[in-house]
Amino acid sequence: MKCPFCKFEDTKVIDSRASNEGSVIRRRRHCDSCGRRFTTYEKVEEIPLLVMKKDQRREPYERAKVLQGIMRACEKRPVSGDQQRTIVEELEKMLDEKEQREVRSSEIGEFVMEKLSQLDQVAYVRFASVYREFNDLNHFMKEVKVLLGKKP
Ligand SMILES: [Zn+2]
Repeated sequence: MKCPFCKFEDTKVIDSRASNEGSVIRRRRHCDSCGRRFTTYEKVEEIPLLVMKKDQRREPYERAKVLQGIMRACEKRPVSGDQQRTIVEELEKMLDEKEQREVRSSEIGEFVMEKLSQLDQVAYVRFASVYREFNDLNHFMKEVKVLLGKKP
């Protein structure tokens, strides 16, 4: 790191500490040439996660959008707000572990469906019907039978 005062190239780190819960590192540096001190901040570059839709369009991942879909499916159902938020947290943990910066919307949908199916069958079917975009009633009823048949 170049000294901001004399442009000397070789400066030393004399102190280093994390701030903002570890997401920023603050460093005190000392210039061997002019003897002055200065501070630098090192921060993780936040790369947005992109969601690839069925039509290949990509848009940034939005937690609020996923949560909204879950909330709609769970309306008047015995699934608490905490349980709904937990699904989103588990989803984000799963996405984090994959270390990819792009995910298919179908992967998100399948994950949420799997979690909802363990909590409430009605919420599960509601979410699935929106997610799978059923466009006629027969198709919907057929799918519902398949979906419900998977679980006791
Ligand atoms: Zn200097």
